[in-house]
Amino acid sequence: MKSFQVDENGYYGQFGGAYVPEILYKTVEDLKKAYLPIIESEEFQKEYRQLLRDYVGRPSPLYFAKRMSEKYGCKLYLKREDLNHTGAHKINNAIGQILIAKKMGKTRIVAETGAGQHGVATATVCALMDMPCRVYMGALDVERQRPNVERMRMLGAEVYPVHSGNKTLKDATNEAIRDWCCHPSDTFYIIGSTVGPHPYPDMVARLQSIISEEIKWQLEEKEGRDYPDYLMACVGGGSNAAGTIFHYIDDERVKLVLGEAGGLGYETAETAASLTIGTVGILHGSRIKVMQTEDGQIIEPYSISAGLDYPGTGPIHCNLYETGRAKVVPINDDEALRAAFELTRMEGIIPALESSHALAMLPKMKHLFKPEDVVVLTVSGRGDKDLETYLKHKDEIVL
Ligand SMILES: *Cc1c(COP(=O)(O)O)cnc(C)c1O
Repeated sequence: MKSFQVDENGYYGQFGGAYVPEILYKTVEDLKKAYLPIIESEEFQKEYRQLLRDYVGRPSPLYFAKRMSEKYGCKLYLKREDLNHTGAHKINNAIGQILIAKKMGKTRIVAETGAGQHGVATATVCALMDMPCRVYMGALDVERQRPNVERMRMLGAEVYPVHSGNKTLKDATNEAIRDWCCHPSDTFYIIGSTVGPHPYPDMVARLQSIISEEIKWQLEEKEGRDYPDYLMACVGGGSNAAGTIFHYIDDERVKLVLGEAGGLGYETAETAASLTIGTVGILHGSRIKVMQTEDGQIIEPYSISAGLDYPGTGPIHCNLYETGRAKVVPINDDEALRAAFELTRMEGIIPALESSHALAMLPKMKHLFKPEDVVVLTVSGRGDKDLETYLKHKDEIVL
């Protein structure tokens, strides 16, 4: 049977690979050889799982949302990644990667960040492990995401504003890669999503796969079967979705539904719906679907959600989309905002704007749900960071 997991060459169908400059070739090769043996070692597993339990607060609850279930005509469970330390799923990956960095003898960490969630997660694990840390962040994002910049600085990280391009995530990533090229032997680049050259997408997916590992036994406990009928998540680069589906990716009983950022509409210039409108290209070391002009210039993405504001999507999801294994739904800003208020008022949970893109698929899926269908939707993060945006739009919301 054909698998949707990575193949031996680092590809998912036609997507993925490792397109890196000569100077990084050896570093990426070393990581490629090292990551699986490290992740599978008893020593790593012991330390990683202990930190996930005692430091992050896992397992994250699988919460039966009663009122929302009645409204949408299914059994809706929310996977509560918003309850993790630092407020999102990003910490699962950051802990795993810093442990790998240490095992590989690296002494310095660099990272990129957009909304600042991955920057905060990385700064947090660097404080924990006493490692120097530099976080590249677009200068515009530094302005827009003040509280997260202050958290990173409090944690001891150096936040490095990037003034090139349109001063957002793509530009921060370019700069982080440039830094890595200058210090390939001592520096480990902690990438925050299932993007970048192989083995990053697979490594990040594995480090996030704790999400679906927990869903399996939690569903067995609650429903008497270890799989759902639907899995739903939002996709930026793809890491929370990859973690949610990891153990089900080849199980065709489970339907996969992913929400990407439509911005003001995927048919407008103001969008980040790269799966829906992107074309095949190479970005940040990987063959993926990117928003680009006919001559391969990146089109600047737009989304109300800084965490989904990226012109591409990781290779795993490109392949799921192209093969039809996953259904991908572009969600516009106003739909995401509405969904955030709905969850808040119906269940008392304020979700991150990114996660609201997953929730906003529920009204669009309602006609397909049967009352006995088990639907698991991942709430990737909490909405504290987005309160200002939510309140600004409060009066436009019709529930
Ligand atoms: C960063 C982020 C995302 C988007 O990243 P993925 O890698 O696609 O998961 C989604 N939700 C939250 C809360 C985030 O911080």
